[in-house]
Amino acid sequence: MDAQKVWVDPDRCTGCGACVAVCPTGAIALVDGRARIDEEACTGCGACVDACSEGAIQPVVQGELVPASPQPAPTVYRPGPLARTAGATIAVAGAGLLVRAAGALVRALGRWLMRRPAAGRSDLPVQPAGGAGRGRRARHRRRGQ
Ligand code: SF4
Ligand code: SF4
Repeated sequence: MDAQKVWVDPDRCTGCGACVAVCPTGAIALVDGRARIDEEACTGCGACVDACSEGAIQPVVQGELVPASPQPAPTVYRPGPLARTAGATIAVAGAGLLVRAAGALVRALGRWLMRRPAAGRSDLPVQPAGGAGRGRRARHRRRGQ
């Protein structure tokens, strides 16, 4: 069996057939919409490599597959010292605000519970209808009677 001389990247091949048309030995066929190379018939002339506009056919160099095109290394964001300090400051400030908000909520809830009439407790004085008490509204009401 002959050594492989060119290879097809199936992810790039669109099945256009341009390589089939230029191959002088008829070594390329379209199978399931992708180019497939008959290694026995391929002479390694490279005509298909030049004909493929997608870069899907690449030569095999010394038994190694040549990548169609190297992908650039992904850029990894690494925050600098200033960004790290700013991030930590924002985190601390955020935590402080959360604590203060929770404290205010607890205080408001406590005030609301203190003002709320105790339902079902007979040991507490019942306020007469019309309003009693020592508040400003109660005084106004008493004056108006
Ligand atoms: S020319 Fe390229 S894209 Fe078109 S069939 Fe051949 S390998 Fe596939
Ligand atoms: S290298 Fe030449 S002979 Fe081999 S498949 Fe491509 S066009 Fe055909």
